[in-house]
Order: sequence, then C-alpha cells, then structure tokens
Amino acid sequence: MTDKSYPEIREGLRRLCAAFPGPYWQALDRQRAYPQDFVAALTEAGYLACLIPEDYGGSGLPLSAASAILEEIHKAGCNGAACHAQMYTMGTVLKHGSRAQKKRYLPEIAAGSLRLQAFAVTEPASGTDTLSLRTTAERRGDRYVVNGQKVWTSRAEHSDLLLLLARTTPKQEVVRRGDGLSVFLVDLRAVEGLTVRPIRTMMNHATTEIFFDSMEIPAESLIGEEGRGFRYILDGMNAERILIASECIGDARWFIDKARHYASDRQVFAKPIGANQGVQFPIARAYAESEAAALMVAKAAALFDAQKPCGAEANMAKLLAAEAAWHAGDSCLQTHGGFGFAEEYDIERKFRETRLYQVAPISTNLILAYLGEHVLGMPRSY
Ligand SMILES: Cc1cc2nc3c(=O)[nH]c(=O)nc-3n(C[C@H](O)[C@H](O)[C@H](O)COP(=O)(O)OP(=O)(O)OC[C@H]3O[C@@H](n4cnc5c(N)ncnc54)[C@H](O)[C@@H]3O)c2cc1C
Repeated sequence: MTDKSYPEIREGLRRLCAAFPGPYWQALDRQRAYPQDFVAALTEAGYLACLIPEDYGGSGLPLSAASAILEEIHKAGCNGAACHAQMYTMGTVLKHGSRAQKKRYLPEIAAGSLRLQAFAVTEPASGTDTLSLRTTAERRGDRYVVNGQKVWTSRAEHSDLLLLLARTTPKQEVVRRGDGLSVFLVDLRAVEGLTVRPIRTMMNHATTEIFFDSMEIPAESLIGEEGRGFRYILDGMNAERILIASECIGDARWFIDKARHYASDRQVFAKPIGANQGVQFPIARAYAESEAAALMVAKAAALFDAQKPCGAEANMAKLLAAEAAWHAGDSCLQTHGGFGFAEEYDIERKFRETRLYQVAPISTNLILAYLGEHVLGMPRSY
C-alpha cells in the first residue's frame, strides 16, 4: 500500500497507537467517553502542533505531514476525530488573526496547554445553508453580545476555545451574499450565558449542541474584519476536507487489512472463504478504490502545500475517500459474517465511525453540487 511519505512520522504513530488497542476504544465507546489518554499522548508527542509555524512553537510541517499523521492513526484502528480539530482550527487565527492574537494564542495551542478543539458553524434551522444562520453577535461598546444556538459543535466540552461564526449584520442589509458574518475566538473558560449539551450519537464523537443567551465576549475576540467571517471559514475548509479524507484512507486501509487476513484464514466448506471470488472481489475492489482516492488526497495536499488552488481536488478527495472507506467497511463486515457484528472485532465500531464522513463536515451531495457548478459549469442547484 502506497504510504511511503514521512516514514519517521508514520513509524512514530504506529508505536504510539499500539498503546491504544481495540479494548481501549471499545471501553470508551460503551461509555461514550472521551479518549483523554490518547489525546494527551498525541499532544505530548507534538503531533497536534505539526501545522503551527516554528515561530509560534509548532513544528511548521506541511499539510501532507498532517495528512500522514491522521491516516496512520486511523490505519491503526484509532480515531483522530477526538482531536483532529486541534491541528487545523487554528488556521483561521494564523491566517486572519492579528499579530497580538497569534502571539497570545498560538504558542499555548502549540504546547497543548490551550485546546482549540471546537468550531461552531452548523445550526439546527439552517443546516448546510450557512449563510442563513441565525446566531447573532451584536456590538455593544467594547463587547459583543451573542444570542442563538449551534448544533453538532463537537468537542466543546473538551476545548478551552471555540471558533464561532455569527451574524453581525442582518442578512437583508448586506450588499454581497457572503457578507455580514463574523468569526470570533471565544474563551469558553471566561464566559457566562453559554449552555453546552452533549448529543448522544451512533458513534463516540463528543458532539454537543450549544445555546447562547446574551453571552458577552470582549470585542477583541473578533478575528479579522467584521462581516468577512464566511470567507475566513471557507478558507479553512480545504485543509479540513483533505485531512478528513486522510482519516478515511486510514480507515479504508484498516478495513482492507482486516478483511484480507480474515478471508485468508477463515475456513468454511474446507477452504479459506477468500478463495471464493464473491468474498475476494469486494475486498479487491475496495482496495482499488482506496488507492485511487489516496492519490487524489495526495494531489490535493500537494496543491495546498504549494499554495495553489485546490478546492476541486480537496472536495474530490473527501468524496472519494469517504466512499472508499465506506465500501471497504462494508466488505470487511460482510467478510467477517456474524463476527463482524461482535464488539471485540472493532469492525462494527469503525463501520459506525466511518459512516459519518459522507455527511460531515460536508455531505456528499454538496460536494457533487460544488463540482457540478464550479468545476463543470452547470447551473447552480441551490
Ligand atoms: C457527529 C457530527 C459532528 C459534527 N461536528 C461539527 C462541528 O464540530 N462543527 C460544525 O459546525 N458542524 C459539525 N457537524 C455538522 C455537519 O457539518 C453537518 O451535519 C453537515 O454539514 C450536514 O448538515 P445538516 O446536518 O444540517 O444537513 P442538511 O443541510 O439538513 O442536509 C440534509 C441532507 O440533505 C442534503 N441536501 C441539503 N441541501 C441539498 C441540496 N441543495 N442538494 C442536494 N442535497 C442537499 C444533504 O446532503 C444531507 O444529506 C457535525 C455533524 C455530525 C453528525
């Protein structure tokens, strides 16, 4: 399997992840508990600070290195969703924050003493239609007052800071569609008027809904210019899509590896089940799909690292990798027959976990709509 880039990083991750085997994740999954020790180990080893420039205490590595890290985590059967946002959410501060904000926050984020794990974009009423979000931030003197609600704000209970997208100018008053939203870096340790409620989901994801009831934040929480927040969020989306796609590639490789070994070992009707093409071919097909998707992920990451436009490639990488992981998961589960459903094999857990990526952080349909409109020049569908 083609994972020759960053051999030392990959080897380091393999060693780290070996300390967090299936039973560790199974126990957490049963309790829907957060993998504190796993996140602490990644933080301590510096992996989560890989994208922060060296000037701010990180290792200043390119996105392709972060991609290798997340792929290895998932390939080892672990789950990076507990902490992947610590890697890339800071990109909005790095790219659009003031010098003072960068100096204040980035070194601590790099050290892991400050967790920037949560970003709140999605709302229950507007869903994918981000420009219709209703949470408002109203300027009053040296503060903003925030009112509204977010949903699916993952890791809010395990984060010190929250990147928040809120409306600062009413929709009907803006000149351009994308104007009027602003991004804030909220210090969750220092606010009142905020309620965080966990949402129990089909996998262990530490996601929440949050309510703002006249939550006051200092005016200097604003990142960049007021009203330009939607653009800042869009800026970060390519990195996020490429990194999530890398996790999917890791999942696909984990599933395929499990499936091929089991298919070769399991004897039914006095021969290995993998000798039957009905068992072998879906695994081979999933392998081909995942290798092709991995090439697109690598292409997207290379374009991103070269600071070239990569919107189409980042979206295609996410689409193809999420589908490859899902198909690999399905064939792995089928290959294991009844045992695929048993907790101790980890397959049913990974199967549930990898399904998410066809919906979040962007659903497959919306990627297709992007390709249809922006790449292929067809009429806008929404
Ligand atoms: C576990 C989990 C964690 C998440 N973490 C975060 C987070 O940390 N921060 C955050 O801000 N958000 C988060 N999300 C939200 C996630 O990004 C959204 O769920 C996702 O973008 C889809 O939005 P929606 O759920 O509102 O679906 P909707 O927008 O309601 O869409 C529902 C379905 O309709 C389809 N659809 C909608 N419009 C169209 C159209 N025009 N054409 C074709 N199909 C369409 C969609 O593809 C989707 O399948 C998370 C979600 C989950 C489930």
